[in-house]
Amino acid sequence: MDENRSGTHAAVPGAPQSAASAVVQDQLRRPLRDLRISVTDRCNFRCTYCMPKEVFGPNFAFLPHEQLLTFEEIARLARVFVRAGVRKLRLTGGEPLLRRDIERLIAMLAAIEGVEDLALTTNGSLLTPKKAVALKEAGLRRITVSLDSLRDEVFMALNDVHFPVRKVLDAIEAAAGAGLAPVKVNMVVKRGVNEDDVVEMARHFRGTGHVLRFIEYMDVGNSNGWRMDDVVPAAEILRRIHAEWPIEPVPPEHPGEVATRFRYQDGQGEIGVIASVTQAFCGTCNRARLSADGRLFTCLFAGRGHDLRALLRSGATDDELFDAITGLWRRRDDRYSELRSQATPKRPKVEMSFIGG
Ligand code: SAM
Ligand code: SF4
Ligand code: SF4
Repeated sequence: MDENRSGTHAAVPGAPQSAASAVVQDQLRRPLRDLRISVTDRCNFRCTYCMPKEVFGPNFAFLPHEQLLTFEEIARLARVFVRAGVRKLRLTGGEPLLRRDIERLIAMLAAIEGVEDLALTTNGSLLTPKKAVALKEAGLRRITVSLDSLRDEVFMALNDVHFPVRKVLDAIEAAAGAGLAPVKVNMVVKRGVNEDDVVEMARHFRGTGHVLRFIEYMDVGNSNGWRMDDVVPAAEILRRIHAEWPIEPVPPEHPGEVATRFRYQDGQGEIGVIASVTQAFCGTCNRARLSADGRLFTCLFAGRGHDLRALLRSGATDDELFDAITGLWRRRDDRYSELRSQATPKRPKVEMSFIGG
């Protein structure tokens, strides 16, 4: 069923209107614009804030291969999501570059009419210059590389697999060299762990063209032992940087952008803060998440996902998939971060490594 026949999809002012585009809104009148696709639940890092070793140890049951969506299944779902309004796709994980031949998936997604942006988030460990070129040639537009410190002892304690800083810095240069610039660099800031690296990270990336983004440590999942006391508020991060190099706000480029942007007044580039804990942005949240086994999550903090793989594998048509996705989106009323309280972190929630950031 398409939007005209169903009569259930309201137009959003300012949204692109094309034959291939239906605009579906949720209960809080938020459109569906952004789809994050987790291509694997596995990772070669054990970041303490994401996949702590005590939980994700040698006996952890990761998804068996047959339960992962194939590239063909992912591309088919992506096409249906685009028909429902999605314009931006981001591949994530786990570590997306662990999925063999990811370039083939990128090429399939890049070929979908209506996809305006195609990005990938990686820990950089497998991002060699050759891989960066292959990703770019396959049609990747942008890349985000995660790096939490410039000090090996701090970074290695955080990734918990002894991975050195230098290799991630090389990966960032490889990405830029392949034309995936500007590279975004994600730094999760945790109180007492890497808060003192904030200014050093800013110093390092100023003037390079890369955009450093500071992320407040979040209570995703139930394994990282999150406490509010561990969060360094974005306002404090900005104060520390402003004291060194004055900054000023930059207006958002797109509605629903998660990072609040700032630029150095001396012209040395931009930074961003993702203040999902202290300044929740649920009001404009237009993101859906697809897990590696094909479940749709309408919030990063959701307790359960909706099984699209079962539908796909039982022979559903594209129209049936479209109805299922738009129906779920229309019922969506998630706004976890706005409702966060003493009690909410204990709710059962999906793990970040399962659905990606
Ligand atoms: N493995 C890839 C990586 O690390 O870039 C992609 C997946 S990772 C889950 C995506 C992003 O989520 C990373 O930038 C990571 O630092 C961030 N992240 C993971 N756990 C987090 C948490 N508890 N709070 C805030 N950000 C988190
Ligand atoms: Fe792996 Fe990324 Fe999670 Fe670190 S943040 S454990 S690199 S998925
Ligand atoms: Fe979106 Fe959920 Fe995050 Fe709010 S808490 S911004 S609804 S993902």
